[in-house]
Order: sequence, then C-alpha cells, then structure tokens
Amino acid sequence: MLFSEITAKFMEMEKTTKRLELTDILASLFKDAGDDLKNITYLIQGKLAPDYENTEFGISDKIIIKALSNISSLSEEEINKILYKNGDLGTTAYEIGSKIRQRPLFKENLTVKYVYDNLTLLARSSGHESTKTKINIYKNLLMDSSPDDIKYITRIITGKLRLGVANSTILDSLVLAFSDKDYSDAIETAYNFHPDIGYIALLLKNNDIERIKNTGPDPLIPFKVMLAERLKSIKDINEKMNHNSAYEYKYDGLRTELHKKGDVIKIFSRGLEETTMNFPDIQKNFKDSYKFDSIIIDGESVPYNPDTGELYPFQMVSQRRGRKYGITEISKEIPIVMFIFDILYLNGKSLVNLPYPERRKILEDNFNDNDYFKLATRIVSDDENIINKFFEESIENGCEGIVAKNTSDESVYRAGARGWLWIKFKRDYEKELADSMDLVVIGAFNGHGRRTGAYGALLMASYNDENDTFESFTKLGTGFTDELLFSLPEMFSDKIVMKKPARVNTKIVPDVWIYPEIVMEINGAEITVSPAHKCAYNLIEKDSGLALRFPRLVKIRNDKKPEDATTTKEIVELFKMQKKTK
Ligand code: AMP
Repeated sequence: MLFSEITAKFMEMEKTTKRLELTDILASLFKDAGDDLKNITYLIQGKLAPDYENTEFGISDKIIIKALSNISSLSEEEINKILYKNGDLGTTAYEIGSKIRQRPLFKENLTVKYVYDNLTLLARSSGHESTKTKINIYKNLLMDSSPDDIKYITRIITGKLRLGVANSTILDSLVLAFSDKDYSDAIETAYNFHPDIGYIALLLKNNDIERIKNTGPDPLIPFKVMLAERLKSIKDINEKMNHNSAYEYKYDGLRTELHKKGDVIKIFSRGLEETTMNFPDIQKNFKDSYKFDSIIIDGESVPYNPDTGELYPFQMVSQRRGRKYGITEISKEIPIVMFIFDILYLNGKSLVNLPYPERRKILEDNFNDNDYFKLATRIVSDDENIINKFFEESIENGCEGIVAKNTSDESVYRAGARGWLWIKFKRDYEKELADSMDLVVIGAFNGHGRRTGAYGALLMASYNDENDTFESFTKLGTGFTDELLFSLPEMFSDKIVMKKPARVNTKIVPDVWIYPEIVMEINGAEITVSPAHKCAYNLIEKDSGLALRFPRLVKIRNDKKPEDATTTKEIVELFKMQKKTK
C-alpha cells in the first residue's frame, strides 16, 4: 500500500469527530491494507508495536526543529516562529516540505512498508551517534515524502498523531472490515488477554474465529487486569453476591502481574507497562523461591517491614517507578511483599475459565507464604458480623478495606472488565461521597490574581466507555499546592490542542483545550444534576447531565490511561447510591 493512501484517510478522519464516521474510514483503510494491515494498526495509534513492547522513537521536538532547519535554509529560530504560528510540528514540517525547491521530486510511490521500516530504524538507533542517525533518517523521509505525508509522519514520531481513536474504535473498525458483530465480545476478551491490536487484526483478517475464542493469557504478554465494582455496605454486597462470596484484604500498593516462561520472569503494571526494571528484587525472589515452568499470577505489591510485618504506604513503592539507578539500594531499604490474589496460568495451561475457588485452591496448593510472597488474607463467610470484624482487622493491618470475590461457578477471571464478580468496600464509602474518582483533564482556564501565569481551574471529564467519549463533569480548582499549580502549564504544554479534540463532549468551552491524556484522582462533596455538564446527559434528567460539586485534587494518576478513568456508568451508580442514602 502507498503511504499516501493512509495520509488521505488521516485527512478524512481529521474532518470528523463522529465515532461512526471514524470507524467507517478506518474499516475501509483496513480492507485495502493487504499485507500492511498489522503495521497500519500500529501506525494509526502513532506506534510501531503494541504498547507493552515499549518502542519509543526517542526524538524530541528540538531535534526535529534542528533537522528542519538543516534541510531548509531557515534558522532554528525561524522554524520556531513557524511552529509558534501553527502550534503543531506536523504542519510546520508540511510548510518546510512544500518550500524546499531543490529537492528531487518526492517518491510518488512511497510505500507504507518503506515508512514503517525507516521509522523502526529511527526508533532502534541508540548509542552516542544515535541523534545524528535519527536526524538523517528523518531528513531522508522528508525528502522522499509529499508535504502531506511528512505532516503525519512528523506527528507520529513526536507522539502527536491524535486522531481521536481509542483502541475500542480500532477494534470496532476491524470487526466492521473483517468480521461480524456477533463476535464482538469474543474479540474484546481476546484483546484483553492479548492487548496487541496487530495480532487481533491478523486473526480477524484470516477469519480465525476459533483462535480468537481461544486467545487467553500468554506468559510474558501482559493482560488487562480484572477490576472491581463498589458498593456502600456489606449488606448490599452480600445481597448482590447472593451470599456466595469470599472476602480478601484490599492491599494498598501497586497492582502487579508476574509472568514466567522458561527462565524469563517479567513484571507488568496495571497499565501494561513492563516494570521488571523497577522490581529486580521481586524477580530474583520469585526465581529463588519457586520452580514453575510457566506461570502468571496477579497481586498487589506493598512495601513492608519483614521484622514486624508492618505494611507501609504506597508512596514508598511509587518512588521506585521510573528509577533507573540505585534500585538495588532502594530494594534493600524498602523490601516488597507481593500479595498474590489470583492465578491465570500454570505450566502450560490457562486457568481463567475455572471458578475463583478453584483458582484459589491452586494457589494454596502451589504457594507457601514466605517473606516476599504471601497469599491474600481472606475469609469465606456471609455473616455480616464476621465480615465487619474482618474489615476492621484489614484496616488495623494497614489495608484500605476489603474486596468481595464471587465464589459461584461463573466466577471466571474477566480480564479488563469491571464487573460484579469483585466488589470493593472501603471505610470512606460509609461517609458522604463514596470513594474518589479518576477524571480526565480536557481543558484549562487561565488563572487570575494570585494564579496569573498558572491555570485557575481545569475542566475534568468522565469516560463514557459505551461511545468512547470524555464527558465534562466538573471544574477543578482546589487541592493543588502552589508548586504543582505553577508546574501545570509546563506539564500540559505538549498536550494543548487548537480545537476541541475528537471524543471530547462538553458545552463548556475552556480557554485552552487539553488532549485527553492526563488522569487525576478527585474527591468531591456531592454529585448533582446540572444542565452545564455532559456527563450522563439526558440519562437522569432531560437536557441535563451530572456534575461533581466541590471537587478537590487528591493526586495525579500517572499510572492510569484516560480510558481507565471513572466511567459515566459508574458515576450514574454513585449518583443513585448517594440518593438512596439521603
Ligand atoms: P481501586 O483501585 O480502588 O479500583 O481498587 C481495585 C484495586 O485494588 C485493584 O486494582 C488492586 O490493585 C487492589 N487490590 C488490593 N487487594 C486486592 C485483592 N485482594 N483483590 C483484588 N484487588 C486488590
């Protein structure tokens, strides 16, 4: 396929924010993709491989500006001026590309494969000469491609393609192109166990529905973890579970997937990032403690004191994230224990379709607690007094609360899904608003007075996972330290976009639009009906949505993607729960 065909589709996509139209355009692109299908599924996400392979281009805007200056007769300062006018490096590259006179006629037949291969070379080049190599590859690409092509290639390299399509839209487009809606659930499940759109695309193109149905957990490939719903009382949980449940401590640490295949042990976060580098101790301790050929376990890692058994706050673990140096020293200072609460795979066999009690039994048969790995503490009971005592004990032992786990025959491991098979219960649920929420920044308002130069408030949205949109829900202006507040313009600088991003649904127009990428944890006093906001619009009341009153920042959640934010559906549930207790 020619790259210009992708460019044409990208241009079409930019003209719409309607999900159905985007799906149609992508489906027609996929149908025409031929052997390039897999690579195209990555390119439209601005990537070269599935997320968990961590393929980064490793090239900054500054280097692109240098390359553009190099290739044109313009100074870096002049390029910066054009960039300032456009607000986008892609358009800037387009302008430079159009201006270069002496360049040989660009390749009319620039193929997707050629671009993909060159981008791969660019991403792979490392070492002290790598900047030079990257600049050269980029310059050659610019010479070879039309101005429109280089616009999108530049956006891909700088991580700003932003076509407004989430993975769920890409999956829908693949279904539209090659399959049948009847298989949508099976396809989503396959993707949740094997979150590689390229892999799923090929199975669909080959009409390999059997393999789609059989796609389960695979050691060393991260899966999307199972999530919990929430309820406000043990009584409600018991009723919802039909009195068929066990209760486990809810540990307050970092969700941890541990995979082993042969001699290789890898650790992944709930965001599917590989974090083995941050936890060399867990890797080593597992290797020293157990002899499985292959295994996948799910649990929570918590810093603790092995002498007293005391658990420490989550922040002590998060210090390790992203650290490259001194990990060994830190792991000595702050030992980690992984509390294992599920097993998905053992010695060549998937266990996800077994009911939870059987999976737990397998854990008990195969693991003896030691200083580094312990099974989650639990009880099996439906006696409210006993469960309440267990809950109090969990808090005394440094946990956040408890998680009820369904014990019926249907209690499979459901990757990527929040469902009533797991229900969490925390202390603050009994108080005013049940639990904090994770909301997505979609816009910002300029600050005045003391906040001049910073933002005065942020426009925050919930995630509507049914139509893949971000719906405005509240204006957040409190809970920030001055330091954080004044660091926001810098933090948002490469996320500011000129017009309302696709997928954003709001009536309120902020001073600046922020591309939905940043998630913040927010507390609030009350959810109210509001005509100003688009969250759950027309669902509770005609011409009105829901809004959060008195929101307050708890913390920035770098570990969450926008699609992991609190969903509109959950907010509706919270709203109903709140009304019930009034
Ligand atoms: P939340 O982050 O509030 O939605 O709560 C769900 C999180 O609790 C999961 O993603 C896990 O990281 C954590 N967790 C701690 N202990 C358990 C447990 N025993 N079972 C399931 N999840 C747990």
